[in-house]
Amino acid sequence: MSEPTAAGSPSPEVPAKSMEQIVSLCRRRGFVFQSSEIYGGINGFWDYGPLGTELKRNLKNAWWQDVVQRELIGPTGDAVDIVGLDCTIIMNPKVWQASGHVGGFNDPMVDCRASKARYRADHLVVLGSIAAGSRLWAFVEGDDAARTKATKALCKYEKCDAPDPARHVLRPFTAITADERARTIGPDADEPGSLTEPRMFNLMFETHCGAVRDEDSKAYLRPETAQGIFVNFQNVVDSTRVKVPFGIAQVGKAFRNEVTPRNFTFRSREFEQMEIEFFIHPSEANQWYAWWRDWRFSWWQSIGLTSSNLQLREHDRDELAHYAKEGAGTSDIEYRFPFTAPGFGELEGVAHRADFDLRAHATHSGKNDKAKYFDQARNERYFPHVIEPSAGADRGTLALLCEAYTPDPSRPSGVFMRFHPRMAPVKAGIFPLVNKEGMPEIGEKLFRTLRKKHVVEFDEKQSIGKRYARMDEAGTPFCITIDSETLSSQTVTVRHRDTQQQEKLGIEQVPAWLDRQIGLED
Ligand code: ATP
Repeated sequence: MSEPTAAGSPSPEVPAKSMEQIVSLCRRRGFVFQSSEIYGGINGFWDYGPLGTELKRNLKNAWWQDVVQRELIGPTGDAVDIVGLDCTIIMNPKVWQASGHVGGFNDPMVDCRASKARYRADHLVVLGSIAAGSRLWAFVEGDDAARTKATKALCKYEKCDAPDPARHVLRPFTAITADERARTIGPDADEPGSLTEPRMFNLMFETHCGAVRDEDSKAYLRPETAQGIFVNFQNVVDSTRVKVPFGIAQVGKAFRNEVTPRNFTFRSREFEQMEIEFFIHPSEANQWYAWWRDWRFSWWQSIGLTSSNLQLREHDRDELAHYAKEGAGTSDIEYRFPFTAPGFGELEGVAHRADFDLRAHATHSGKNDKAKYFDQARNERYFPHVIEPSAGADRGTLALLCEAYTPDPSRPSGVFMRFHPRMAPVKAGIFPLVNKEGMPEIGEKLFRTLRKKHVVEFDEKQSIGKRYARMDEAGTPFCITIDSETLSSQTVTVRHRDTQQQEKLGIEQVPAWLDRQIGLED
């Protein structure tokens, strides 16, 4: 599990976007709200408002269309076969023993005896002098306010104006010795020595099925959607005509009791995943791994993450998960969020999981070799290997929001959301220039026609400038105005969000034109 890093050198393309401004626009315009806000919220849980719901739905729909429904040509020139699945959130707890989650879905945790706060050890860094006996200050990486606080405390203690790079260094908490830990002041503590040694903490939410709450009724909320796919592998093979190589896709909620939920929706306790398990003959792992990695990267670009803020990062050998060590590889598709810049945070992982999961379920369920797949073409029985592209719908939505946010002081709104038309929550605004001469009626008719296929808005209130400003903040790519020329020559004025340029279009052409702009065929 990798956390966004603050490593790397600043790039000239790092956008001047502040997370505070993005969060504030999200709340003001109804993209994202704090869950149960009227009761003070609940840490790690977020609600999507009307615009955010459309945005996230567009992302998930585009993923489903492009992965499951539309033709996708694979590395061999043949169409890639992928079918869908929709599994339950609560499964037999044995699933999680077999997958290794009950025993091993752990993160090293650090408790603070003074403040009672709990942190992920791999999220903490310590700042301080390398000299023996000196004090160190711990804080959560990426938390700028905490870093400033630690720096001030260090300077006061060491009687200097600024940290001296030759003496004062920043190190991962996991790299310090027990002696250094005893001299470390926790993020929310005043005195050194309150942080415990890192300990393991299970991230799965527990619940109970039925009236009796005991060990036997204990169950878990799934921490990933993948296992539902693995345990249904045989059902899908038996009930459909799929043959290896083929994939199973699923979109759904996952839950992790993250210790330090933070960075807006980036690290939540309830989130949605979009996962594919792609089953292949073991000899074809390299080819499929490379193809999935590259296709998934280009897919994120195709829905608007076109800047250098998107990167593909191949894992180093020592970073690989237990199942991937001997495999074709693991890579992350990462985005440079304002809170990770100049570093990056993971949007999607693409991993060769070998036959780890199918084999584990075959063993734990007692099916053993009977669970092997029979490949008629090869006349061979084997456990297929798996390439897993696993993406987060909430992190994806957050990346779309951050990428789209474009400050523009020349506009009345001061900002516009440059969403790809396919992702934009509202595709077009329809405005009668004035509320007379039949313009509202023509506008409403066009609105009803476009509404059959798209989310569009009809707005006849306030000045045209104010209506444009509202649409700019919502990220609506086109505004269509019914004006006096509509009456005389059946044309409308289309205003493009990004360039603010206007063009005339025949009103009859608008529906097909809008389909094309959004990437739908005529
Ligand atoms: P991280 O290292 O950031 O904890 P991970 O490597 O554990 O993530 P995976 O288990 O590979 O993540 O999950 C696949 C995807 O699910 C991630 O790429 C991410 O988009 C999403 N995801 C995982 N944990 C969270 C979370 N707490 N909040 C939101 N999305 C998440």
